[in-house]
Amino acid sequence: MADNSQRRIAFIGAGNMARSIISGLVSNGYPADRIIAANPSQPKLDALAADFAIQSTNDNLLACQQADVIVLGVKPQLMAQVCEPLSALDLSGKLVLSIAAGVTCDSLQRYLKQAISLVRTMPNTPSLLGLGMTGLYAEASVAEADRAFAGQLMAAVGEIIWLAQESDIDQVIACAGSSPAYFFLFMEAMQQAAVKMGVTTEDARAMIQQAAIGAAAMAKQNPQWSLAELRTQVTSKGGTTAKAIETFEQQDLRASVDDAMNAAVKRAQEMA
Ligand code: NAD
Repeated sequence: MADNSQRRIAFIGAGNMARSIISGLVSNGYPADRIIAANPSQPKLDALAADFAIQSTNDNLLACQQADVIVLGVKPQLMAQVCEPLSALDLSGKLVLSIAAGVTCDSLQRYLKQAISLVRTMPNTPSLLGLGMTGLYAEASVAEADRAFAGQLMAAVGEIIWLAQESDIDQVIACAGSSPAYFFLFMEAMQQAAVKMGVTTEDARAMIQQAAIGAAAMAKQNPQWSLAELRTQVTSKGGTTAKAIETFEQQDLRASVDDAMNAAVKRAQEMA
């Protein structure tokens, strides 16, 4: 097995998420000539080759044969069909990493018809901007160097968190996979309220999204304070913020959030 900076990586399915990871790897100095993308659509491959100077092919099998690491980046519903021809290869000594939502390790082993060194990951959409949060689960048989490599790969598109058990992926879905949409909903509701007060849609959006970025940055830069402490620090007693927070609490925002996140976990369990 090549050392970690020299491993040949094959991306099977070179769509949005694969492109983001490739972009992150190359801009972090990963050698482009060690990366190959396989996809049926030639224009996508040409664009990747032009932008990142990586190799490309229409032949998934060929890409996997040459690779030390195989990143399965096709849509979940295509995974069985895409893995079927790959099952003819001897994958021992290769690391397989799946970024597909909802496809379990058991299913992947079954599709590939062999025991593989397998890491399942759950990235989220902000990964497309390099601001992702990815949960990773490695089966016990995965070697330390493979775990480290998988972590390095997904760190190319944001932060990573290792999970003790595969079912924890459902919690990652509730906390990070689906949560950008919760924030959009909250921002949308704030924008609607602002527009009702007479603020223009444009100004409302500018103010709300900047406040969201600022709040997230304050939270991230001050890990010594809990989120509750950060909130109370910006909430003067008897002031305007206190009045707004009191209203949220009276309406039981926390219970809504609790119900919503549990509903996301339940749905992830049903879909797995
Ligand atoms: P995408 O549609 O942009 O990419 C999938 C790619 O697979 C396409 O380029 C398609 O042409 C290619 N493809 C189709 N059939 C193929 C085949 N037989 N062989 C090789 N390639 C084939 O989708 P995406 O958003 O990049 O998502 C890819 C995976 O990442 C999915 O499994 C999804 O669940 C997961 N994911 C994506 C996000 C996200 O924010 N985009 C978040 C979490 C997980």
